[in-house]
Amino acid sequence: MTFNCISPSIVFQEVPDEISLCFSITGCTIGCKGCHSTELWQENYGMPLTNLNFISWLKKYENLISCVVFFGGEWQEKALIEKLIIAKNHGLKTSLYSGQRHININISQHLHFLKTGAWRAELGGLDSPITNQTFRNVVTGENLNHLFVKSTINKNNFSKGINNVAA
Ligand code: SF4
Repeated sequence: MTFNCISPSIVFQEVPDEISLCFSITGCTIGCKGCHSTELWQENYGMPLTNLNFISWLKKYENLISCVVFFGGEWQEKALIEKLIIAKNHGLKTSLYSGQRHININISQHLHFLKTGAWRAELGGLDSPITNQTFRNVVTGENLNHLFVKSTINKNNFSKGINNVAA
C-alpha cells in the first residue's frame, strides 16, 4: 500500500497563525456521511508521497511556510511519522486533521496541532459551537476551537476548508 496524496496546496485557515502546506492523504476508511472529499477514500488515488517527494515539496516552499498539515494518513502510521519527523527537522510545525476520535501517541508525539472527530453535518465543523470536532495544541493541550468560531465573522471567506475537508 503506497502513501498517496493529491497535489499539495498552501492553506491559511486550517492551522491558526500558520501558513501551512497541506497534504491530503488518500485511503480514508472513516466514511463520514456527507464527506465532500470522497475521492480520498480510494487508496490508489493521487500520487505517491515518498520521503524524497516530500522533501522536494518542502524545499519548493522553503521560507514561505511555517507548518505542514496532513488531512488523514494516520492509517499508515510509519509513513506519516517519517514525514512529520522530516518536517520538524526542516524547522516546521506539524498538524494532523483526523476523523478519528483518538490518535496513537506514536503519531501525536510528533505533532504540534491535532484536529480530531469525524464530520457530522448536523453538528458542523470547527467553526460551529456545537461541533463534535476538536482542534488542540498538542504541546500545551489547549483546545483552540474558539479561534475557528471567531472566523465566522468572515464566514464567506473562511468557512470553506474547515467544515468538511478531509478528516
Ligand atoms: S470527511 Fe475526512 S475523515 Fe470523513 S470520510 Fe471524508 S475524508 Fe474521511
